Amino acid sequence: MAKITRRPLPKSKPTSPKPIQKSRDRPAAKSAPKRAAKKSAKAARPWTSAEVHEAFSRFRKANPEPKGELEHLNPYTLLVAVVLSAQATDAGVNKATRPLFAIADTPQKMLALGEETVRDYIKTIGLYRNKARNVIALSEKLIADFGSEVPRTRAEIESLPGAGRKTANVVLNMAFGEQTMAVDTHVFRVGNRTGLAPGNTPLEVELGLERVIPGEFMLHAHHWLILHGRYTCLARKPRCEVCLINDLCRWPEKTV
Ligand code: SF4
Repeated sequence: MAKITRRPLPKSKPTSPKPIQKSRDRPAAKSAPKRAAKKSAKAARPWTSAEVHEAFSRFRKANPEPKGELEHLNPYTLLVAVVLSAQATDAGVNKATRPLFAIADTPQKMLALGEETVRDYIKTIGLYRNKARNVIALSEKLIADFGSEVPRTRAEIESLPGAGRKTANVVLNMAFGEQTMAVDTHVFRVGNRTGLAPGNTPLEVELGLERVIPGEFMLHAHHWLILHGRYTCLARKPRCEVCLINDLCRWPEKTV
């Protein structure tokens, strides 16, 4: 899953609050979407409840059961896939994990492979050395502290090596059906551009989206927003002409 990097502000300007995520789990904004995000966040008229309901009704009608694109076999392989997805594409992670998960779909099997072999399997993914270390360390911790199961609380998931707030949100949502909102680069951009939940940090956007999205949509909202950002509200050339919510979107630069 792609991440957002924040550019340092000039010294004369006040500094923004730091995201609370661990650095390896912190989404990172590229300069263009971030500029757009700031502009939209300042200029946007807040959405009404009826407008938010309308937008998510359209997403639901178009795709009633949205699915994440990170391939996994069980909560453990989902956790590993999310940890590997930092600053990488889902497609790139899937390519590496398909053969890896075929032979190691439990913490015990992953440990038996060893760090060096795991490293070989994932060497096409960025930061693979560090990630291989984390996969082995988190597998050890799952066995030692959680009976080889992926824990079900945010604090416990965040205590695992390589896992932060976004990882916890994805795992809680996809593996355990909780109404969490993981903010990656796509959700960060869409939340800001549309004016749905403007924010300078992933956490601000996450909390803003949780505030405005009705409960009935929350289980799938994360996937609808990711897919919207990945395939329609593209970073460089948003496809506003085919956008389902182009009449509701507040972005001053939308092309319709
Ligand atoms: S109208 Fe354009 S900018 Fe707004 S959400 Fe749709 S694709 Fe994104």
